[in-house]
This record gives sequence, C-alpha cells and structure tokens, in this order.
Amino acid sequence: MFGALITKIVDLLYPYRCLKCGKVLDSAGYLCDHCVDEINFIAPPYCAKCGTPLHVDNASNLKYCATCSGKTKKFYRLARSAVVYDNSDKNLIIAFKFFDKTENANLLAAMLKVAGKDIFDAGADLIIPVPLHKSRLLKRRYNQSAILSDKLSKMVNIPVDCFALVRHRKTRPQVEFSGKERITNVKNAFSVKYPDRIINRRIILIDDVMTTGSTLKECAVALRHAGAKSVDLLTVARVID
Ligand SMILES: [Zn+2]
Ligand SMILES: [Zn+2]
Repeated sequence: MFGALITKIVDLLYPYRCLKCGKVLDSAGYLCDHCVDEINFIAPPYCAKCGTPLHVDNASNLKYCATCSGKTKKFYRLARSAVVYDNSDKNLIIAFKFFDKTENANLLAAMLKVAGKDIFDAGADLIIPVPLHKSRLLKRRYNQSAILSDKLSKMVNIPVDCFALVRHRKTRPQVEFSGKERITNVKNAFSVKYPDRIINRRIILIDDVMTTGSTLKECAVALRHAGAKSVDLLTVARVID
C-alpha cells in the first residue's frame, strides 16, 4: 500500500520509466542507459542485400555476405533488421508480443525507422504488416506488426495498408516448428485481397522477428504474384545462426 503510494508520487514527479527494467528516467525517453547499452544493434558492416552483419576482418572489401554473392536469387529486394535477436532484446519484444505492452510500439517503430534507412533511400510506396489469421486476431486483440507498421508509417510518411494482404489459412505458431516444418506450416497461407492496391508498388513488409524467414517469404511471394514491383523486409529483430 505504502509502496504503491510512493510509486504513484514518483510517477507524478518523474513520469518516465525505462520500458525494460522499470528504472525511473531523469528525462523523457524509453530506456535507461544501461538497457540501451545492452541492445545489440546491427551496425555497419553488414551485407548490402540481406543486412546480415559481416565479420569485420573480411568486411573491408566485401559488399555482400557469402549467400548473397552467390547466384541464388532472393525473393526480396533488401532486408534489414534493427537488432540481433538475443537475450538482451528478447524481453522487450516478448513483452510487446504477449503481455499487451503496446506502449513499446513507439520505441520499436523508431528502431525500424533507423534500421530501414537503406530501404527508404531506395524508395518505397507502401508499408504492409505480416497479417494474422482473423481467429488469432480475435484472440490476441491486436496484431503487433500492424501497430508497428502504423507508427512507422507516420514517422516516415509512407502509407500503410493492413488489409490488402491476408492470412487466409490458419497456421500453427512458427515457434512450434523448426526448419522444413516451418516452410510447410505457412505454405500458401497468404493471399492478396486487393491486388489493385499492390500492383506496381514497392512494398515494405513489416514483422517483429525474422527467424528462418519462411513467413516473410510466403507473404513476399503472394505480393509479387499480385503484381508488386518489389518487396523489402524490415523487422525489429533477426535470429542469426
Ligand atoms: Zn532499463
Ligand atoms: Zn547477404
């Protein structure tokens, strides 16, 4: 009771608290210095195509990673992520995803804005979030990728469309699968409901975490099928093996 009262008074005096550890901040912001230091931001050098960090020792004359300098054609134009998905960032994103901490969205969208610079420079017309199946949307009440897309849209002045791409088939959460099963789980799960909004557009696909990329790939394939000019991938975090 007394503790709650103290917290309330402190909140009145200092309304800003670190979103991750709860520490009171002395000025307006989202995270305390310690938690900012803990975030493993992806900084240059990284692959110009897929955005994977390059090892510093051989990066001086390399533009692309080994995979991207090969002949395999990628299903996207550019891919970028703000952070490497590790222990320090996991908490923030998991909280955003599962604990209704939608106030984290502003911070995550700001991270997307920084990470997506190359994509914005290359030019983009439309932001599209990875959609949830409507049954899942009802259960969770919001689509975190749609909230991120909406915030990012306002920050970078690029329109957002949360309805053109749909997940028409119900899929199990990807965390339940690994490798090939993930590909099968989301295969042909997405389709474009309004192709006229997609045709000839350079699209930025938004998701919170990219693990194997199977979900993003299925979305990109559906968009390209519907006539999208290009698809870029932008995620807050990325798993790197
Ligand atoms: Zn903190
Ligand atoms: Zn690459």
